[in-house]
Amino acid sequence: MPVDATQPYDDQNIFARILRGELPCTKVYEDEWAFAFNDINPQAPVHILVVPRGPYVSWDDFTEKAGDAEISGFIRAVGKIARDQGLVAPGYRLIANTGFHSHQEIPHFHVHICAGKQMGRMIPE
Ligand code: 5GP
Repeated sequence: MPVDATQPYDDQNIFARILRGELPCTKVYEDEWAFAFNDINPQAPVHILVVPRGPYVSWDDFTEKAGDAEISGFIRAVGKIARDQGLVAPGYRLIANTGFHSHQEIPHFHVHICAGKQMGRMIPE
């Protein structure tokens, strides 16, 4: 069920539990600002989820409330992960679903890094 991006943060959401080590994941990267792991239901040969360590429901919540160091640290981490995975030359797609119409399912802000195949136009004509 898609979530409302304006809802209060629920610290029992799946990604909060992964961050706390309460649920397993296949970790790809971590640093002070970001934690990354493989999507459990990949939509492309490479499908990595990157989450900030802080408690933000969505892109909207993150960009409104996170500090500058947190935002820049997180965005730099997303870029570094893509570089480290060798995705820059073949290319990759970033997705940050936000709220009901985007079909955001997990109410902890995350960026999808999708790559490894030709994905075509973002929104089919
Ligand atoms: P959203 O629709 O919120 O942008 O994307 C949520 C993503 O989280 C989906 O691609 C889904 O496959 C992934 N996901 C849901 N539950 C889990 C889980 O327990 N572990 C991992 N690694 N990914 C999950």
